Amino acid sequence: MPKTQCARLRCQTDATFIFRAESLPDGVPVCNVHRSELEAGAPWAVEQEDGRDVLLLGHDADLAWPRMLRAYSAQGGKDTEIEKGKLERTVQLGLTYGRLGVPGSVDLELNLSLNMAREMALGLLRVVDSAPPMPE
Ligand SMILES: [Zn+2]
Repeated sequence: MPKTQCARLRCQTDATFIFRAESLPDGVPVCNVHRSELEAGAPWAVEQEDGRDVLLLGHDADLAWPRMLRAYSAQGGKDTEIEKGKLERTVQLGLTYGRLGVPGSVDLELNLSLNMAREMALGLLRVVDSAPPMPE
């Protein structure tokens, strides 16, 4: 049986193990060193390159992760007349987003009805609560 090379980016070592995950049912071949890193919980992602799976691990994987909402702050609550005679609530949101270890931020000012503002705050809370913790 021909040797299969470890799928981790830049690794030239022969694979000794097939790494599988729920999002990667077919698995990718990895060497002993990179198997250990995966089992220790290093962040990973798989990208297609020239029709084959390339495993991004550790710092490489950080850059492949999609931007995610990490935290937010909300302030305001002043009433604003958007249409004549119709008051809406103005809410200022500060959003912190970013890939793992690469945070960015943006400030938004939204005009929402009280009900919409409440729903949005609850929705944001769910998103933030489900995000993985920021690395130290
Ligand atoms: Zn390897």
